[in-house]
Amino acid sequence: MTDRSLLILAGDGIGPEVMAEVSRIIGWFGDRRGIAFEVSEDLVGGIAYDTHGTPLTDATMARAQEVDAVLLGAVGGPKYDTLDFSLKPERGLLRLRKEMDLYANLRPAQCFDALADFSSLKKDVVAGLDIMIIRELTSGVYFGEPRGIFKEGNERVGINTQRYTESEIARVARSAFELARKRDNRVCSMEKANVMESGVLWRDVVTEVHAAEYPDVELSHMYADAGAMQLTRWPKQFDVIVTDNLFGDLLSDLAAMLTGSLGMLPSASLGAPMANGRPKALYEPVHGSAPDIAGQGKANPIACVLSFAMALRYSFDLGAEADRLEKAVEAVLAKGIRTPDLMQAEGGTPATTTQMGDAILTALDESL
Ligand code: NAD
Repeated sequence: MTDRSLLILAGDGIGPEVMAEVSRIIGWFGDRRGIAFEVSEDLVGGIAYDTHGTPLTDATMARAQEVDAVLLGAVGGPKYDTLDFSLKPERGLLRLRKEMDLYANLRPAQCFDALADFSSLKKDVVAGLDIMIIRELTSGVYFGEPRGIFKEGNERVGINTQRYTESEIARVARSAFELARKRDNRVCSMEKANVMESGVLWRDVVTEVHAAEYPDVELSHMYADAGAMQLTRWPKQFDVIVTDNLFGDLLSDLAAMLTGSLGMLPSASLGAPMANGRPKALYEPVHGSAPDIAGQGKANPIACVLSFAMALRYSFDLGAEADRLEKAVEAVLAKGIRTPDLMQAEGGTPATTTQMGDAILTALDESL
């Protein structure tokens, strides 16, 4: 018996291919570490539309609300491009995020030494990089009202509203401070308090939450534009960065690309704690369904595998096991085992998705 539950939504394109490797790794933790999970599987995205006429059924949504963590592969594909907006595969993912109220989006930017040459920055700037960007995901300018394109006199005007309540800022700040305590205990908060009132409030509330609840964590503030510069100049100065939805969208993509391939990037989206103390949680690779390589055994499963490592750490408090899995990935890369997306121009024989999974499982065995 186990009190750890997972819902796997592999989705479309390479989603099922990369998730198959994660399923083997979940099995390994049960067999070799005695860490069992109750796993259920269901459909999301295009495959759910094909089967049920909707990208996410109510039953799947209800199951997602019950489990400790949802693991998602990827959704979408050219076949669904002409569907009505409300039926598109991405709506399934957006519904999960919205109804689970996943307000803290965690995007690590971690550079494995073996891949430091892949960055567009100098090797010494990125080698060993390990930072975490927390983006507020459910409010801010993407959701604020009024919004729209209106007629003003004889021209049109486009309006979006940046809006944050104190409680929205406080809860994502808490996520950042909690996370920092599990890492290097430092948080840098980014906004534009110099030109935006919402930025002034953001800075005030983060400062208040820090003083009242997390005085042991080191807190600094930076304007988001300066933050972008610092991220490219010397990213290793940061530990945890917390920022709003818009700035987080930009800064997390910037930070992610410091480390090279899309096939390497995991993410977590967390919400409020449930009755058992675990946060509502969805873990997914940053990449999409990659229809150009789907079904060819070329997909890199590492982003999805590292997303499961995040689940071990943030949903199940199994930090040492998450370390074990991340170190196994690092060991495989150090051996020069690469899927095609990680190959340099000089060539060599690429590993298939399954061979990459095999190599990670071997490295896990070697970790015992
Ligand atoms: P994509 O991330 O699917 O692919 C971009 C490029 O990166 C492609 O060349 C692809 O082959 C490569 N790539 C991506 N993941 C890889 C991996 N694990 N291993 C090796 N190479 C990898 O983005 P796209 O092509 O813009 O979108 C394709 C579909 O995915 C679209 O329908 C889009 O809407 C959807 N999408 C879904 C998500 C999601 O599910 N969260 C995110 C982004 C895009």
